[in-house]
Amino acid sequence: MTGAFLAFSLIILSQKAEVPSSNALRPEDFKLRSANRLLPLVEEAVAIVNRVLATDIPVRLTTPGAEIGRPGVATVPVLLVRPDGARFSDSTVALATPEFRAIVVGETGFENFTHAVSDQRGYTASIASRDLLAFVLMHELGHILAGHRGAFWDSQTVDRDRLNLDASLDKTHEEEADAFVAAQMNGALADTGDFDRWMTTMRVSIALSELSFNLAAIRRVECFGCSVLRDIALFWDRADSHPNFEYRVLQLNHRIQNNQTSKSLLEEFETVRRLPHGASSPIVANP
Ligand SMILES: [Zn+2]
Repeated sequence: MTGAFLAFSLIILSQKAEVPSSNALRPEDFKLRSANRLLPLVEEAVAIVNRVLATDIPVRLTTPGAEIGRPGVATVPVLLVRPDGARFSDSTVALATPEFRAIVVGETGFENFTHAVSDQRGYTASIASRDLLAFVLMHELGHILAGHRGAFWDSQTVDRDRLNLDASLDKTHEEEADAFVAAQMNGALADTGDFDRWMTTMRVSIALSELSFNLAAIRRVECFGCSVLRDIALFWDRADSHPNFEYRVLQLNHRIQNNQTSKSLLEEFETVRRLPHGASSPIVANP
């Protein structure tokens, strides 16, 4: 997704003039098309996030028409939509808007994303979709609570001119949203007095581990014998708006797992990422 498209997508979510109570929001309020095929999955992921969230976080996710939670707890609706060509891309996984405190999930975008990171290629594990979606929703909720907009997409195209390692405000926002996920998950994993919450969080943590393994496996296989220029596309940031996705996942995974494997995966990635432009890649020499 280009920066312009991203900005346009976020403007869509700003076009709503009158704000009904958050639980009454529908995709049509944003002139988006409702989807329902993955609704059971969304409901499961919403329940997972609500189970993981610390009790002192005064907000819970909800799906349209669901019972509003207990008094004093704000709700953030999760709306499931289908792509409509121009306005909502089939690679948009999720958008978050702090103005309306809503998260929009792209049905096709999420399916394309799960397929891209855990398909049946033989060298990648299948990742539980509900746990993967719970991670995405928690990340978007982190954006909303911090007051910034968020967009999560399956970035399939590489614009070589935009590859960079530069800091930006948007990238900082991504790191803040991931830090929210890590804080919530680490808090739940330390809460051994609530076994159900611990187990629910452990499953999301396993999904994140598998995601980090899969991204590394996909990169290794697809990068076998590839050129140095192609390496940079894999290791650098693809736009100003988001840090490299694999790098983000490896960092988040290590913040939660904090073991030798998560450390090695992260360090291997950082070693190549820091190589001077044009240096030969150890990935090629050591596939
Ligand atoms: Zn984000």
